[in-house]
Amino acid sequence: MEIVEVFDSPGKGRGLRATKEVWAGDVLFADPCFAAVVFDSLVAHVCHSCFRRQAKLQRCGQCRFAQYCDRTCQRAGWVEHKQECAAIKSYGKAPNENIRLAARIMWRLNKEGGVVSDMQLTTLDDLEDHLSDMPEMDLKELKVDVHNFLDFWPRTGKQHTVESISHIFGVINCNGFMVSDQKGLQAVGVGLFPNLCLVNHDCWPNCTVILNNGNHSTINTMYHTQKRIELRALGKISAGEELTVSYVDYLNLSEDRKQMLKQQYFFDCTCEHCTKKTKDDLKMAGAVVDGVQVELPRFKCSEEKVKEVTEYSVEMLKKMENARLEANYNEVVKICRECVEKQENVLADTHIYQLKMWSTLGEVLSYLQFFEEAATYARKMVDGYVKLYHPNNAQLGMTMMRAGVTHWQAGHIEVGHGMICKAYAVLMVTHGSTHPITKDLEAMRNQTEMELRMFKQNEYVYHSMREAALKNQPMKMMAEPVEEGVKGLFRKK
Ligand SMILES: [Zn+2]
Ligand SMILES: [Zn+2]
Ligand SMILES: [Zn+2]
Repeated sequence: MEIVEVFDSPGKGRGLRATKEVWAGDVLFADPCFAAVVFDSLVAHVCHSCFRRQAKLQRCGQCRFAQYCDRTCQRAGWVEHKQECAAIKSYGKAPNENIRLAARIMWRLNKEGGVVSDMQLTTLDDLEDHLSDMPEMDLKELKVDVHNFLDFWPRTGKQHTVESISHIFGVINCNGFMVSDQKGLQAVGVGLFPNLCLVNHDCWPNCTVILNNGNHSTINTMYHTQKRIELRALGKISAGEELTVSYVDYLNLSEDRKQMLKQQYFFDCTCEHCTKKTKDDLKMAGAVVDGVQVELPRFKCSEEKVKEVTEYSVEMLKKMENARLEANYNEVVKICRECVEKQENVLADTHIYQLKMWSTLGEVLSYLQFFEEAATYARKMVDGYVKLYHPNNAQLGMTMMRAGVTHWQAGHIEVGHGMICKAYAVLMVTHGSTHPITKDLEAMRNQTEMELRMFKQNEYVYHSMREAALKNQPMKMMAEPVEEGVKGLFRKK
């Protein structure tokens, strides 16, 4: 790996830096997965080999626990599952996801050692486990996991010390990476990617990490189970510059980000954006409202009013989340509408609580097929995100894509096509041209471009064609509103 090297990052321990200049969209490294497992909550809905969500899965006839799309997936996953399968059978049940992951890691360590490819920059032994930083409660939980691990681990296999098992659990705790489904829309499992563990955090990073399993449409067992991540540059990075990714969503206030980072990753963020509290003011700002009469100047909403509506929004967000968890989407819409009405002309269009409401409203209304209203909120949300996020932020690109589809669904072909093009430009950097989402987006771009041409020639023909297209739903991006996609980088407990 000639583009990156390990170095001692001042105040951060080990880190990675570029050894030569790279540009937006360049891949700094591809890191194959050391081991991964499906979340406990999704074991019956996701293939244990390719991690695709499936309506129908086939059980492993031996352990009755692992489930697969088909024979091909089962065969491809056998190397990883073989020992696990026997252990589950003799243990009588499958242990939790943490233990399953630790066991898969241990089996691989036994078989291949701590370094499994020449691209791997660190051994697992050298990774930080932060056991000494962990609060008492979490340590207790970890000890229970270690205990159960030892019960689960076959007596006949190579035995490991409590220390080395605890180390692996510690590493998983702070570096367990969320593995998403094939479209990157929902987290379905957790895995360990050794090189990624070396990339330090910055709230305004110069890289992004994306899971790309290669082309899933190819019926190729080689690619079928190969889970790998790519570290991609968001802009120009000079030789010698440290490579960083963000572990948390930038849309949080600097204080909240710092707290999350401390709690989960045990460090105090000293990045420039945290130190200067960059954009915190925008995220909590009040609206600047036009005067009622023309001669009156624009005025700022009073601080008290902004504070009052901000506090009200916090309450409403909680209510909304509850309704959403119950999949009571009509209730979600009702709560959001009520809140949005109060926020209007009081909170700025970059206020994060207002953005959150717009985002939910847009998504749920589009699910309920109120496309026109959904498009309005999607548009507002994109405008707000553009002012806050890095221009090549993956979340921004995904939001633009969804907003583009919503506009297309509402019949605003011109705006829709424009947004899809912008989203495509971002995703070419953050996801790359071979990612399934980028491919979908490319197809959408071509279709909307064709429709736009048609629209300009003959509006009537365009509208009747669109009606037909909507019935066939070729652009179904969101089967059901999902919880925020994959925002946090590593798994939160
Ligand atoms: Zn599969
Ligand atoms: Zn099995
Ligand atoms: Zn920071």
